[in-house]
Amino acid sequence: LEEGARSCLLRFRHRLEQDIKPSYLMDHMISDGVMTVDEEEKIRTKPTRKDQSAALLELLLMKDNRAYISFYNSLVKESYDDLADLLREDLPSVLSVGGESGVQTVLSEGGVPQRPVVFVSRPELVNRVREKLYRLQKDPGWVTIFGMAGSGKSVLAAEAVRHHGLIEECFPGGIHWLAIGQLEKPDLLVKMQSLCFRLEQSLDPQTLSRPPNSLDEAKERLRFLMLRRYPRSLLILDDIWDSTVLKAFDIHCRILLTTRNRSLTDSVSGAKYEVGVQSGLDESKGLEILALYTKMKPHGLPEEARSIVRECKGSPLVVSLIGALLKDKPNRWCYYLRQLQQKQFKRIRKSSSYDYDALDQAMAASIEVLPDEHRELYKDLTVLEKDIKIPAKVLSVLWDLEPEEVEDILQEFVDKSLLFVDSHHKPYLYYLHDLQLDFLVEQNRTQLESLHSKVVRQYQQHYRDGPPTSGDEECLYWIRFLTYHMAKAGLSQDLYSLMFSLDWVSTKSQIMGPAHLINDYVEYGSILDKENSEVRSQFQEFLSQNGHQLEERPFPDVVQLALSQPHNSEVYRQARLQAQNRTRTG
Ligand code: ADP
Repeated sequence: LEEGARSCLLRFRHRLEQDIKPSYLMDHMISDGVMTVDEEEKIRTKPTRKDQSAALLELLLMKDNRAYISFYNSLVKESYDDLADLLREDLPSVLSVGGESGVQTVLSEGGVPQRPVVFVSRPELVNRVREKLYRLQKDPGWVTIFGMAGSGKSVLAAEAVRHHGLIEECFPGGIHWLAIGQLEKPDLLVKMQSLCFRLEQSLDPQTLSRPPNSLDEAKERLRFLMLRRYPRSLLILDDIWDSTVLKAFDIHCRILLTTRNRSLTDSVSGAKYEVGVQSGLDESKGLEILALYTKMKPHGLPEEARSIVRECKGSPLVVSLIGALLKDKPNRWCYYLRQLQQKQFKRIRKSSSYDYDALDQAMAASIEVLPDEHRELYKDLTVLEKDIKIPAKVLSVLWDLEPEEVEDILQEFVDKSLLFVDSHHKPYLYYLHDLQLDFLVEQNRTQLESLHSKVVRQYQQHYRDGPPTSGDEECLYWIRFLTYHMAKAGLSQDLYSLMFSLDWVSTKSQIMGPAHLINDYVEYGSILDKENSEVRSQFQEFLSQNGHQLEERPFPDVVQLALSQPHNSEVYRQARLQAQNRTRTG
């Protein structure tokens, strides 16, 4: 829910509570699909009309803009004109309402990345993509943007949908961005799970449905969501490598995808359109980027500028990386040009994913200019998962530095195009470009274990007295990824003791819901089984039997639940111990 709307609801809460009759309003909201029957029933169980109103407002505060608009409309329909007037002013500007800020809201709700800090327009390409997207107005289909690494496909895809008319006329159901990248089947399932989760959450943040278990199930879930709950929306799949991925999304919806492989959509059905980003930026745009980074006028740039653009054939990525370097070392034009040129003689074709050799060099060069101590810190980012955004506080634990100091360092990385920041989010969230992460992993291949260990050890040091439970972004990161880091670090012992602990089960399911936890037992099953496969299955069993209760709020007493496990189960044993402790301490 938009800030303005939220604050408006809070301001007029008492008046609304006094006056409204929730049952009528809820009927409208259910038929608008912004509220479920379950939620309605929960509210109806409240004793008085006023309690019910309060509960409805409470629920509304957790919902999205659409729910707010539906609530507003239902006030109008039920002739609460005075109340509707109070809310009108702060009506969120989504979809058919509003202009620029409406577009921004739709895009950021759908996870569409923002423009890079230094940005040049490519009107001809953008228009070609938009023109194809308009063909999806009436019917589902696929639009492919293809081209090589770093040619600006993702930026282009995000830019194409940054258009009020297009969203309003073609995709009033919203725009949903999903970063894919190179992945194996299980990872694809996780991505699809998280997409379903996101889509379901924004309709209905309270119920947590079980994540789909298989690709087929995920596909069906998504088909339903796109058809029934998000009709006329656009799904953007960024960086697809494999046609099996596309098959999972072959559900008769509207899709924009970016890829290096032009022929991917051959294997799926429906209307298909494509736009190639075959050449890089033309010289003037390339120079414009260099000029923006170095704060010079394009015609005042040195002669090398032109050669740099030519040397990398206008690759937006390479020009941007070098631009960012020059921003700090403005007298290194000649040096960076030479680096690029030398590359031509040393064509080291690596197994890594870049088609573009110069990329490695440009990337390595960006890292080399960091002061030594910051280079080490940057290296620590190797352990992040793709597309995961983290708040500075996580790194403050990892690096054992004050949050403010961490923010300054991260800002430095951002300024050097080594890191991206999502500044829509408070606190800011930071993330790496896929290529940067690939590069880091490649560079630090032999140290992955120790880098992950460092994360775990720093966490353990910082949270000696128990895991964080605040539910803020930092807490969520640890609760979600601690097991991942332990597994990657090869710290099996730590992983066993964490995952074979009823306390952890209780903490994690309270904060993230049981689905994530079950996922962990499946994902790390083979590691856990080396210690004790029975205990592993006892925990898993416990979770699948009680998944439903663990989704309930208020959160149930896990010890009580666990006491009904078979008496030879480790889950039972720990619960009994805790129950005894409770009686002892009163
Ligand atoms: P691809 O998806 O083709 O691999 P991206 O769209 O991710 O490439 O672009 C790679 C990088 O190139 C971006 O992070 C950005 O720094 C730069 N870039 C791409 N397009 C532009 C643009 N229009 N203006 C400025 N920089 C751009």
